[in-house]
Formats: sequence, C-alpha cells, structure tokens
Amino acid sequence: MHRFQWLNRWLGEEILTKRRSYLLVSGCFILFGAAVALLSSFIHYRMQSSSIEASIDQRFAQLRELKLGELDRRLHDLDGLVTALAENPLMTEYLLAPTAERLEALQHLFTLVARSHEELMQVRYLDRSGMERVRVDRARGAAEPVVVGDSLLQDKGHRYYFQESRGLAAGQFWHSRLDLNRERGQLELPIRPTFRVATPVYLDNFFAGIVILNTEADTMLEALSRAPDFDAFLVDGDGEVLISPDPQLRWSRYLDHDPSFKERVADAEESFYRFDLEPLLKNGESLQVLMVPREEALQRLMHANTLAALMIAASVILISFPLAWLAAVIPAALQQRLQDTLTKLRSSTDTLDTHVISSSTDAQGRITHVSGALCRISGYKPWELLGQTHKRLRHPDASAEVVEQIRAAMAEGRSWRGELKQLSRQGETYWVNTVITPKLDREGQVLGYTEVSADVTDRKALEKMSVTDDLTGVFNRRRLDQRLEEAMESFLRYRQPFSVILLDLDRFKSINDTEGHQAGDAVLVQVAQCLKENLRKVDHLGRWGGEEFLVICLETEELGAAQLAEKLRGRVASLPQPVGRTVTVSIGVAQAKPDEKLNQLFRRVDAALYRSKHEGRNRVSRSQGPLLRSPSAPG
Ligand code: GH3
Ligand code: MG
Ligand code: MG
Repeated sequence: MHRFQWLNRWLGEEILTKRRSYLLVSGCFILFGAAVALLSSFIHYRMQSSSIEASIDQRFAQLRELKLGELDRRLHDLDGLVTALAENPLMTEYLLAPTAERLEALQHLFTLVARSHEELMQVRYLDRSGMERVRVDRARGAAEPVVVGDSLLQDKGHRYYFQESRGLAAGQFWHSRLDLNRERGQLELPIRPTFRVATPVYLDNFFAGIVILNTEADTMLEALSRAPDFDAFLVDGDGEVLISPDPQLRWSRYLDHDPSFKERVADAEESFYRFDLEPLLKNGESLQVLMVPREEALQRLMHANTLAALMIAASVILISFPLAWLAAVIPAALQQRLQDTLTKLRSSTDTLDTHVISSSTDAQGRITHVSGALCRISGYKPWELLGQTHKRLRHPDASAEVVEQIRAAMAEGRSWRGELKQLSRQGETYWVNTVITPKLDREGQVLGYTEVSADVTDRKALEKMSVTDDLTGVFNRRRLDQRLEEAMESFLRYRQPFSVILLDLDRFKSINDTEGHQAGDAVLVQVAQCLKENLRKVDHLGRWGGEEFLVICLETEELGAAQLAEKLRGRVASLPQPVGRTVTVSIGVAQAKPDEKLNQLFRRVDAALYRSKHEGRNRVSRSQGPLLRSPSAPG
C-alpha cells in the first residue's frame, strides 16, 4: 500500500481525471519509447564500433597488397633494366674487344636507358676491379642524362656495393639499403634517398664486372608511405625511422633528431599495423611499413556512427509521440467512463448508507461495518459499535424466544427475518424489521453476517395505540372485544371455559370533584397498574369504560374468577392512599355459558356488579353463586 504512495499522491485522492490519465499513459509510453530509442542506439553504436575496426582492418589489408604490388613492380623494372644492360650484345662485344667505338655504343645504350627512366640518377658499368668504365649521370633536376668523361671516372673497388655484388652468380641481383647519397664521403644536401640495384656481368663464365643503377628513392618511398586515412612510417630492423608523416623526423640514422622519437615509435609499436618489405627488397635491412589509423579518419567514422545512432533515437522518440497519443486516447475514454460509473456508484452507496440501516459482522458476530443510518437511529458513533456484538443494540426486554430463533437460523446458515426491539444509546426504544443473512464462502463456511433493517418504530407505536388504552396502557375496549370474541369462539369450539370480572371504582366522581380530573386520572393509572401486577399472563386486562376495568380469565370457572376478583379487590383497597383516601372497587363476576351470547353474559356480570354496589360497594358478586365476602361497607 505504501509502495505506490508517491503515485497515489500524484493521482490525488480522487480517481484519475481524464487529463491525468491521459498524461500518465502517454508519459509512460514516451518513456518507453525513449528507453527503446536509447537501447537501439546503443546497440547500433556498439555494432558500428566493431564494424569500424573491421573496416580499418580491411582498408589496411588493401593498402598492404597495393604497396607490396607497387614495390614488386618497381623492383622488377629495375632488375629488368640491369639485366638488359648486363646481357646486352653491345656489352658482350665491348668486353670482347673494348674499342672506342664499342665503348661509345655502350655509352649510348646506357644514356638511352637513363633517359627513359626519370628516377635514374646514375647508370654505370664497373669492371672486374671496380673501376668505372661506363657512367651516365643525371644531375639533380636535369632532364637529360650525360656521359661522364674518361678523366672523371673513379675506382669504386672498395665501395660496399661493389664488394657485395661482385660475388653474385649470373642472373642474381643485389639491392642496396635505402640510404642517403654521399658524394666523396659527404652527405649530399638536400638529402637524396638513394636505392641501388646491381647485377654481375659474366663473359664466358668469367666475372667481368657489374652493372649498377642509382635511383632516386623519393618516389618509391613516397608511394610506399602514402596512405589515405593512415599515418605511415618506414622503419628498419634497428628501429631507425626512414620515413615518417612528419618530414622533420625522417632518416633518423643520418640526421640528428630528437633521439626519443625512435623510442616513441618503438613504444607505440603495439598499436601499429605493419608489413615487411624484406621478402621483396632482400637487402638485409628488414624494412617494415608501420601504419596507424589517422585520428581524423577515426573521428569521421565515429561521427558518422554517432550521427546514425542519434538519428535512430530521434526517429524512435518522434514516432512514440503520435503512438503515445493513440495509446492514451482509449484508456482515457475508459477512464472517463469508469469515473462516471464510480460517481454514480458512490452516490448510490451514499444514499444506501444514509437511508438503509445496515451492518456487517464477522463470523464471530463482531461488528465490522455500520451504516450512517444505523448510527443515526441507534445514537452510537461507529467506533462505539465496531468490534462489539449486536447485543449492544438490542433492548434488554427483547424476547428470549426471538434471540433463540436468530441463533438457530444462523447455526443452520439460514437467513432470519423478523422484528427486533432495540435500545438506543439515549435509552429510547425503537423497533426494526430486520433481515439477517449469513455471508458464505465457496465452501459454505460462514464468513460473517449482514443485517439490513427498516425502522418500524412508528408502526409499532400505532399498533400499540390501537390496542391499548392511552391513559392506563392496558388493552382498550376494542381489543377487549376481540379477545372476548376469541374466548367465546374457543369456548364454543373446544369447551374451554372462561369468566369475566368487571370492576368499577367506587364513588369515583367525588374524587374527580374534590381532587380534580388529573388526580382522578392518576388513580386510574395506579389501579390499572395494581390490577396488572396481580394477574396471570394468560388473563387479559382492559379498560372497559370510564372508571371500569374488565378482566377475561381464560380456562377459569366462575368460582376461580371470583377468588381472583376478591384478591384484586383486596389489593386495590390496600393501595397506599393516592389522593388521601382509600380507593375501592366493586366487582361482578360471571362465567360464560354455552347457550348464551356475549351481551347476555354481560348483562349477567353487570347485574352482579350492580349487586355489589347495591350491597355496599367494595365487594365481589358472582352471577350465580352467593357473594364471596361481605365486608362492612366503607365509609
Ligand atoms: P359509584 O360508586 O356508584 O360508581 O359512584 P361513581 O361516582 O363512581 O359513579 P358515577 O357513574 O356517578 O361517576 C363516574 C365518574 O367517573 C364520572 C366521570 O366524571 C368519572 N370518569 C369517567 N372516566 C374518567 C376518566 O377517564 N378520568 C377521570 N378523572 N374521571 C373519569
Ligand atoms: Mg361507573
Ligand atoms: Mg363508579
């Protein structure tokens, strides 16, 4: 109950209004939409992130194939060139007979080759001792290669390239390391990365020198290290950096760079994509190309990814607005209907509570609910009744018979209907016509009882008024007549005898006259009370007229009635003197006879009464037998 207190507070005590239910449903739906949007964007983002990695891998693989292919083609070209020169018939002719003419032809061939390949800086033939014999140079920036004159040719027998390539078998190639060009021991500036390719020349299986090319490696290196979306480095086996995206940090072996650069590259090695050039170059330098995806390329991919995720989230949220509206319309309408029904229900419940006297109890008879109407009629507050039994509401005089009837009905799980005499908190009697119904569960076990009642106090009062005498509360003349008829009937049918006792107050007129009419009334009430107290339950007492009372004694013969009459006479006479004098009654007694009508019976009892008066009052006379007692007449 407390768990959703915040919700209840927000909803208010009353049931949801249409607007609130609308807000609630669409709010929930939009939240749901937002959650779906976030989740799908997240999943999309994660999937894209892994696909970014995959696409970078793929891009690198493509680049690697491209670069290796390119390098292979270039090397193949250069190898082809040195072979073409070394095995050329002009070379063979020259070696067989090195005439000036043949030298010139060879020089011409070398020049043609140099001219056809722009990157060639030098094309030479060195004889078996390492002496330059043919040399064609291309000066930096110059388009045309030139033949170097005899006087300028040098002995290169001790240079490493000659030393390393002289031992090669025919048809083999030597590739130089990628280094910077030196002229006469000096580093040529601006730097010119140089790559040399050589092949031996053999004549009749005798080593006859080498053909060697110098190429400008710039374009080759450029082609190797140019990679869109990647930063590419070219490093050798010692970790020296030949090429880096930053031109300042190239050729670390030769130029004085920040020494930490080499270490930095080494540290970051893990994060590099790489491939080896050695299998193609075969120059012992263990060159590798290292690549790192460029930050901006990653950013670009990530941005595209994020944008796509945002687009998904935004479109899901946008779609959820109209859907939320649709989703809220129906519940809101239902809500409205529910509320209308509830309002009607409440008003009828209120009406019931106000107008119907009802209560519920548990199986033990303890009150669990009381209606407003019950509280009003009983004068109790609800809390004074809850937890109590109905005994609190019953009148102490309620007949034991009725209480037993109710108990029996409940014990059998039946309903009970009847009238109950109740007592209010203020001590007033009221009557209810009640239906008590047990509430049963599916197994027929009693869960409790409901009691629904109608207030019949007024009817009861009317009823009572119509059979009792207003002043004295004993039966009135009408009721006495009814009872006499009944008595006569059962006498005639079942031979059940009955007698009547007629009492008349003696000299009552004088009480009225001297003490007043009210005092007279009081005497009548007192006498009626006295008579009632001295009668059996089966006798009917009523006021016959003015100051006369009648007693119908069922199943009583005249003698017994006369004895009762005598008792009554004595009790009245001995009443404490209400008006300062003794009140007495004269009495006539008669037993009904089977052959007479009621008026005949009354004629006889009247006569007996008259006799009592006549004979001095305060005495009893029987219609048949002799006078029972003849006290001295009162004064
Ligand atoms: P007796 O002994 O011969 O019966 O004399 P009595 O005065 O009792 O008889 P009577 O018939 O002359 O008078 C009856 C009186 O009773 C007349 C009437 O004023 C009075 N009475 C009748 N009904 C009532 C009543 O309801 N209240 C009062 N206070 N007086 C009543
Ligand atoms: Mg009289
Ligand atoms: Mg009288």
